[in-house]
Amino acid sequence: MTRAEIAKRAGFDIALDHAAFVEDEAVANTLPLLAALTEEVRSLGALVRHNADVARVDGHSAETFEGDRYEGDAVLLAPGVWANAALVEAAPVLGRVRPAKGHLVAVKTSKPLQANVHAGGIYLARRGDETVLGSTLQYDRYERGVEDEQVQKLMAAAVSLAPGPIAPAGRAWTGIRPMSPDGWPIIGQSKQVLVAAGHSRQGWLLAPLTAEIIAAHIAGGPAPARAFAPQRFET
Ligand SMILES: Cc1cc2nc3c(=O)[nH]c(=O)nc-3n(C[C@H](O)[C@H](O)[C@H](O)COP(=O)(O)OP(=O)(O)OC[C@H]3O[C@@H](n4cnc5c(N)ncnc54)[C@H](O)[C@@H]3O)c2cc1C
Repeated sequence: MTRAEIAKRAGFDIALDHAAFVEDEAVANTLPLLAALTEEVRSLGALVRHNADVARVDGHSAETFEGDRYEGDAVLLAPGVWANAALVEAAPVLGRVRPAKGHLVAVKTSKPLQANVHAGGIYLARRGDETVLGSTLQYDRYERGVEDEQVQKLMAAAVSLAPGPIAPAGRAWTGIRPMSPDGWPIIGQSKQVLVAAGHSRQGWLLAPLTAEIIAAHIAGGPAPARAFAPQRFET
């Protein structure tokens, strides 16, 4: 697309000479989506427990710090960057998942954003009623405090990309991404347990595919592709 075509798609002028338009690009509205998924799995008979960290685990059981024990045909660990020593001992590959903090900022734009814009190391995306500006990447950070300097950096990049009025909408937040050493997810057997971790910057996008791969494997289907194998980081 030319600059004029980009402006027509996006809803306002964007400082790019050329761009490609991806027809089925979308945004996951994460909090409502998580709530809906939780309800969905409960309706299918899954037990969902919050605030119950696993203290001991093996190939067929997990026990919380409170002493509640759960048993199953398989145990799948997906702890993001938060694996404790017991989880790392059960699946050493989890020790290779590295945290990367990211900031996101809600912004107001002069006209509504009509299509996601991804350029210059940032993105603007319409999420529900909000336009979200993202995102920073700070390795080896576990705390989630919002840093003014990072918000300013994102705002400066957004203003130079979208020269029309764009301003903070009063809300910024952070999250910690689970980065794998090569950026590819880690899906498969590690010692006695299964692992689905290290989805790096694409966890929402890849979660349905990961679920399909690992569920098929647990149900007796093929092992996950070798490109995802935990063993690539365990030697
Ligand atoms: C700033 C930012 C931008 C992102 N942008 C994108 C994007 O553009 N596209 C995209 O697809 N994805 C994106 N993501 C998502 C990202 O890729 C990851 O998927 C996501 O952040 C982490 O997913 P996770 O489920 O692996 O880990 P988490 O969300 O951290 O979940 C792990 C869970 O395991 C629990 N846990 C850990 N240890 C234990 C224990 N011992 N016992 C019981 N429970 C335990 C934790 O409490 C937690 O609930 C973004 C994330 C961030 C932070």
